[in-house]
Amino acid sequence: MKLMHTTETGALITLQTKDTAMDDLVRKIAAIPAEIRALEGAFGEKKNSMTAARDTLVKLQVEKKSRELSIAEKEEEIRKHQRDLNMIKDNDAFKALLSEIAGAKKQQDDIETEILEFLEAIDKAAAEDKRLQQEVKKIEEEKNLRIKDLEAAKKDCEAALEAAKTERAGFAAKISGEILEKYEFIRVQRKGLAIVRVKEDKTGKISCGGCNMGLTAQKIVDIKTPDALVFCDNCQRMIYLNQAPG
Ligand SMILES: [Zn+2]
Repeated sequence: MKLMHTTETGALITLQTKDTAMDDLVRKIAAIPAEIRALEGAFGEKKNSMTAARDTLVKLQVEKKSRELSIAEKEEEIRKHQRDLNMIKDNDAFKALLSEIAGAKKQQDDIETEILEFLEAIDKAAAEDKRLQQEVKKIEEEKNLRIKDLEAAKKDCEAALEAAKTERAGFAAKISGEILEKYEFIRVQRKGLAIVRVKEDKTGKISCGGCNMGLTAQKIVDIKTPDALVFCDNCQRMIYLNQAPG
């Protein structure tokens, strides 16, 4: 396709503007569910770390409780030995029992030291648990607000897209069939961009605004011809130089 003669280039430029705006809306609408999923995912991860912190705290509390039970058992053991002491007449047996009592007391001390360590660890874990609970609550609130906004934006975009579709259909109906068909065909082939203004650099070199390929001398002559619709040799897009939207 070398060139066509038409007075509808301006209308095609306007149509392209409408289609590009609609494509943007479609992209925006399509991106929103993914953004919502990402927000939910990030929130889920934070929530998992909150659950892990709570598990750590509970585990430490259970450990401490078990040490407290051990202490109680030791106390009972010591009391029993002390009762037994009164009944023992044999000196060696008496000494042996005293030594057992001393051993039990030592164990009791050790467990008490452990309990103190657990208390310290529990304080730290409880602070971390509280921090994460608050953080998760804050993130959840922010996330919910953001999702609400995104859902509202999606609805707005969908409504705008529907209105644009109707408006576009009315506009396109006024363009002649052959030209419109070509436009639609190129738009599908070329990622939504069918008609594009050429670029002119400081040296006067003119290149396609779609694929950046430099125009031949003949193309430059063509593109300056009034009412000529010119096609890029490289990407086949419709290209224009001095044409106002119509
Ligand atoms: Zn091109």
